Amino acid sequence: MSYEVKGVIARSKGAPVEIATIVVPDPGPGEAVVDIQACGVCHTDLHYREGGINDEFPFLLGHEAAGTVAAVGEGVTNVAVGDFVILNWRAVCGQCRACLKGEPQYCFDTHNAAQKMTLTDGTELSPALGIGAFVEKTLVHSGQCTKVDRQAPATAAGLLGCGVMAGVGAAINTGGVRRGESVAVFGCGGVGDAAIAGAKLAGATTIVAVDIDDRKLEWARQFGATHTVNSSQTDAVEAIKAATSGFGVDVAIDAVGHPKVFEQAFYARDLAGRVVLVGVPTPDMQLTLPLIELFGRGGALKSSWYGDCLPSRDFPMLVDLYLQGRFPLDDFVSETIGMDAVESAFEKMHKGEVLRSVVTF
Ligand SMILES: [Zn+2]
Ligand SMILES: [Zn+2]
Repeated sequence: MSYEVKGVIARSKGAPVEIATIVVPDPGPGEAVVDIQACGVCHTDLHYREGGINDEFPFLLGHEAAGTVAAVGEGVTNVAVGDFVILNWRAVCGQCRACLKGEPQYCFDTHNAAQKMTLTDGTELSPALGIGAFVEKTLVHSGQCTKVDRQAPATAAGLLGCGVMAGVGAAINTGGVRRGESVAVFGCGGVGDAAIAGAKLAGATTIVAVDIDDRKLEWARQFGATHTVNSSQTDAVEAIKAATSGFGVDVAIDAVGHPKVFEQAFYARDLAGRVVLVGVPTPDMQLTLPLIELFGRGGALKSSWYGDCLPSRDFPMLVDLYLQGRFPLDDFVSETIGMDAVESAFEKMHKGEVLRSVVTF
């Protein structure tokens, strides 16, 4: 048996996305079918459409989602039909060298569904980040389902599946921000603002937001920035030092992923500080730094994949904090849209007009 549902695909490089009929197979061993309730529009979906990730068209887009488990395959024990879940792209294997070292947040062999979803003519789809969630039902590995408190609305909870988790995790997991520390965040879109909210949650005292768009700096203040710097008008490194008694921050987070920004983050931190790269660079970018500065300043340069999150640990925690009013997930939702508005959501995202557009079903 299988299901026929509507979903949003990118058929070929650069072409506008379209709504198509998707055939979703019954879940096989270890798999689950999830009724999607909400799915955020992420930059990565746009990168897939532009052919920037790989050439395995057609893609079933969407990967930042929450919904209800509709069916499970043989051997599935971590979730049951009716559970409210956030989908993740880090279903840890438990067997790779990272997992065996007790560091599953770095798992090198994460699980995805073994079966393929297809178009009605049998063409196999490549689901974005192994999920594919701009669709009424999707097929995933059961490990990609993280059960959370169903009192959280899907529009908010789903955002933890990618961008918000990446930002929060960059601060609290990768950066290890502790109470009383100072933090600078470069780039105040969804991921950067989530890093700011994460730094606030961790008890950072000084939180400096850096962007070239005053509107984004205003958003950053709402998420907890104590200082803002428009780096198109002011030297960001000098401004950050001025906000930290001349020393620089304990943790500098680059949520842009550009060498010029990374360099500012590098020089804006205090001695023994940490730099975290969570923005995604393009393959052509190069970084040149004086090696003596890298040595002499001590500390650490780290990159953050998916906020070094462990979905089973981090998603329920953040949902609980949200339900207690201690983490502002709703504030990331700029608008809710239908499947037919994904293309225009890409445009708004590209222009920086929204933090997140969320497709609801
Ligand atoms: Zn593993
Ligand atoms: Zn994403």
